[in-house]
Amino acid sequence: MHMSSTLPQTTDDILAADAHLVQSWADLNGLKEPHARTAIVAAKGVMVRDSNGHELIDGIGGLWCVNVGHGRHEIIDAISNQLSTLDFYSTFYTFTHPTAAALARKLAELAPGNLNRVHFSTSGSDANDGAVRILHHYYERLGKPSKKLVLSRHGAYHGSTYLSIAMTTPAYSKGWSKAEGIVHHLKKPHYWREGANMTEAEFTDLLVADMRHEIERLGSENIACFIGEPIMGAGGVIVPPKGYHKRIQALCREYDIKFIADEVVTAFGRLGHFFASKAVFDTQPDIITVAKGVTSGYQPLAATIMTDEIYDVVSGPDGVFTHGMTYAGHPAAAAAGLANIALMEAEQIPERAGVTGKIFENTLRTLEDIDIVGEVRGSHFMMGIEFVRDKASKTLFDTKLNIGMLVARKAQEKGLVARPLGHILILSPPLTLSEEQIAKIGGILRESITEVMNELPKNCR
Ligand code: PLP
Repeated sequence: MHMSSTLPQTTDDILAADAHLVQSWADLNGLKEPHARTAIVAAKGVMVRDSNGHELIDGIGGLWCVNVGHGRHEIIDAISNQLSTLDFYSTFYTFTHPTAAALARKLAELAPGNLNRVHFSTSGSDANDGAVRILHHYYERLGKPSKKLVLSRHGAYHGSTYLSIAMTTPAYSKGWSKAEGIVHHLKKPHYWREGANMTEAEFTDLLVADMRHEIERLGSENIACFIGEPIMGAGGVIVPPKGYHKRIQALCREYDIKFIADEVVTAFGRLGHFFASKAVFDTQPDIITVAKGVTSGYQPLAATIMTDEIYDVVSGPDGVFTHGMTYAGHPAAAAAGLANIALMEAEQIPERAGVTGKIFENTLRTLEDIDIVGEVRGSHFMMGIEFVRDKASKTLFDTKLNIGMLVARKAQEKGLVARPLGHILILSPPLTLSEEQIAKIGGILRESITEVMNELPKNCR
């Protein structure tokens, strides 16, 4: 075999090299088709360039993460300066370093209430996995070793490790194994699809009753925690009904169940605030997990942010905190996090996203007048468009049609990257989009959806 470490330049060379790369969350068989993959070679601001020289608006912000936009020298220089000073040291045993310490202090300052203790990791999956491990240990130390179960929800996405995929919606692990016997899934909090013949308030009552029923069935003495994204992302961009979050938190408190908010997507400006739990949903979680926007994707970094109370228990005498990953709080990643947050503060990016995000949301909502658009949902810069074959009955297209992919391909031809997820198209752009760029995205989506609709075979509609 020809061995080469030089960077492939042409699309054909890149794709030839890429035959060795096993993609994530992809139809690997479909990717064997020539040119099924898109190689992105450069990025600046809200734009990316593919290997054929096409300039595309990055409608998915890398992967819900490039919140401040691409190519920000403030972050790149901070990473480079950090590497010149201290390339690597861990936060294991007795060691620490100033950059991780400063980022931990900054996150404690930004996180709501008494969420003052930060454990770093390298991905949202392991931040969530760690949150549960830490709580299991917490309850062990409190003499409640039976508290092990986790309540999650259908429609959730919490990651791909053995435990985080178990907390993710079961629909995403068909044919795969996962940690068994730990996680129980509550009803999906999606009013438009699941709340037929009831008011939104009645639907909220139903969800709360479902949770109470599960707690009573399993026994609260066996349940460690509830985990939930304030707005579900990769499970289909689902905003729970009004009043839901506070009532879920109240149930957790009533039954001594810890409340984990997975803010991997919702934190760092996407909904107009550094954290959404308190500012948007008026809840005070016991643990918040973050990743993605904390560095705007410039470096892999995640964190499990816990209350002083949890920390006090796990840091008490006669115990060892046997949890952690070598690269967690890596100096370069911590430097990226600090520089990213400094930039967000200096340019008031979350506040501005509160305004432009609403314009983005409203622009996308106008697409609901198209025949095959069933629901446009989400909030600010976290949006999903669900396609239907029949609007009145909300009937979906045949899965084999791959409607989301058809629209995404069309949009990409017209200069926009969007993410297909079955019947849904997801948009999660950088928060720095201008109003002009927002209008352009709206136009491309309208054209793409309409063209795909008009090109559908007759028997599909
Ligand atoms: N939690 C949420 C809400 C996510 O959206 C994701 C990733 O998309 C994860 C966790 C997992 O994060 P990672 O891919 O960094 O492991």
